[in-house]
Amino acid sequence: MIEAQSFQIIDGKHIADVIKSEIAAEVALRRKSGKKIPHLAAILVGHDGGSETYVAHKVKSCEQVGFKSTLIRFEEEVTEEELLGKVAALNQDPDIDGFIVQLPLPAHISEQKIIEAIDYRKDVDGFHPVNVGRSSIGLPAFVSATPAGILELLRRYNIQTSGKHCVVIGRSNIVGKPVASLMMQKSYPGDATVTVCHSRTHNLSEIIRQGDIVIAALGRPGFVKADMIKPGAVVIDVGTTRVPCSETKSGYRLKGDVAFDEVAPKCSYITPVPGGVGPMTIVSLLKNTLLAVQNK
Ligand code: NAP
Repeated sequence: MIEAQSFQIIDGKHIADVIKSEIAAEVALRRKSGKKIPHLAAILVGHDGGSETYVAHKVKSCEQVGFKSTLIRFEEEVTEEELLGKVAALNQDPDIDGFIVQLPLPAHISEQKIIEAIDYRKDVDGFHPVNVGRSSIGLPAFVSATPAGILELLRRYNIQTSGKHCVVIGRSNIVGKPVASLMMQKSYPGDATVTVCHSRTHNLSEIIRQGDIVIAALGRPGFVKADMIKPGAVVIDVGTTRVPCSETKSGYRLKGDVAFDEVAPKCSYITPVPGGVGPMTIVSLLKNTLLAVQNK
């Protein structure tokens, strides 16, 4: 007998494709009425495999929706001063609506200094303190792309969040903190009771087990096991760790923070890796770039 599947997979790839076609339609409309075509620039330092892949996806996605895109490359040895010079030039360039500096940067460059040098009106990654602050008090802002993508998935699947206990694992500035802040906003998706856990949290399994919604963003493949999950919980897996794999051409595959096979049967909804949160991050970046040109 085949058991009926009790959980639903949140198909981030499909939702991302739907949103891309919505953005493409908007761009076509702008083109028709002679309005400016959104232009996203990306700065890539060095040749890290992961960063190369992410930036290539971003550039390809820009093409898919009809944006202009520019990739600016620097060698690993670039100085902080040179990079700051480029950031200043992009801030001034009227043709560039938004730009990102792909992280991580080499150790001799202060990421915070670079982020703060970006004009917050072009900060489509939503990392600048002005955007972080504005979004945390519910003002219009560029919301950090991954958290925005997670909220969009909850919205598109009509998942109820009001009054639910949302447990976030991870407190990074780019995922854990902003997603926790958004989930407690007085809006939908939001209105949740939020607990943020990290590497110093005591009784972690016990806390995760209380979550109606669990957002795992710790970067430890397969960390969240079935016995940590409350039956019927919604599980959002942000983790993307490259693990060696002899069956793929690249020699690796992406693994999430959730042990999918054992956790999925206990959930109501779950995001897969790949194909869950990842595609939504890129789409949020495109949405922010469209917003940047509309804000002008
Ligand atoms: P990060 O900066 O390394 O932060 C990881 C967080 O997890 C930290 O707060 C850390 O606690 C916590 N943590 C680590 N080990 C833990 C443990 N054993 N128990 C409890 N908490 C633990 O990572 P990040 O940038 O937020 O990224 C997290 C994951 O998401 C990574 O796999 C990354 O590749 C992925 N990611 C995916 C996307 C996407 O588009 N899909 C986007 C961004 C990130 P401490 O603060 O105490 O150290």
